[in-house]
Amino acid sequence: MEHLGGNSYYFNARTAFGGYKIGHQLILIDSGNDDSSVKKAIRPFGDIHIAAIINTHSHADHCGGNAYIQKQFASDIYAPELEKAFIENPILEPTYLFGASPLEALKNKFLYVKPSRVTHTLVEEGSFQIKMGDNTIDMFALALPGHSPNQMGYITPDGIAYLGDALVSEDITQKHPLIFTFDVKNHLESLKKLRTVKAKGYVIAHGGYFDEIEPLITANQEVLLSTQKEILNCLQQRECTLDDVHEHLAQLYHLEENISQAYLNRSVIMAHVKYLIETSKLELFIQRGKILLQKI
Ligand SMILES: [Zn+2]
Repeated sequence: MEHLGGNSYYFNARTAFGGYKIGHQLILIDSGNDDSSVKKAIRPFGDIHIAAIINTHSHADHCGGNAYIQKQFASDIYAPELEKAFIENPILEPTYLFGASPLEALKNKFLYVKPSRVTHTLVEEGSFQIKMGDNTIDMFALALPGHSPNQMGYITPDGIAYLGDALVSEDITQKHPLIFTFDVKNHLESLKKLRTVKAKGYVIAHGGYFDEIEPLITANQEVLLSTQKEILNCLQQRECTLDDVHEHLAQLYHLEENISQAYLNRSVIMAHVKYLIETSKLELFIQRGKILLQKI
């Protein structure tokens, strides 16, 4: 893990995650993709005890190392309320994406991790304390819903903010403009709120460490808004099915999708559709088994 100052660290991997270390005790902020990623992150610390994991949200690449760490160290796990349900019952992730008992193809390591037990539920934004050996650490939980239902970022006593997937790098917004979102209204509000968060530094899971995040916030806002514009463009001439909209975005963004990616992208489209309905830009109706969208 790289040292960021004070007791705060981060592990820069495909999905970056954080650490807060005092002596031989460590708190992890998320646990990465899988066992091997989290093992690699903690190995340089040698003889270390993982007192706790704080999860930003329940996506597999953020809690993939939970089960291993909890088994090895009997670590406490802190997670926001609704994310807890998914961390403890990982079948919920492919289930909600598929809309029924999920296809085997959706039960892969990107969508379906080993369960772990959340020992402390975070209900509200604000300070909370974590026991770490003889020390008690004051962490701050920052509500950042949108990318996932109940996502929270965490600010350490050193002033380093770990933001999970509330923001993604500009490299990602350019290469994959259909960024993952669960609730667009909350997502946009969380982005707006991030402009008011003053920390010494920021860690995002897909991008790493940043001294300042203003340009990133703008890039993330723009990419969400441009997807909405494109959905409305698709509906310019005629009513469309959800498949039509998906096809339009697949062509525009050059999406090459396997089954998992197609269901993830469809879920993102549904989040945008819901927002466009609630902002009176389009309506959804059913016609002989077709789900149709029409511009208002
Ligand atoms: Zn995520």
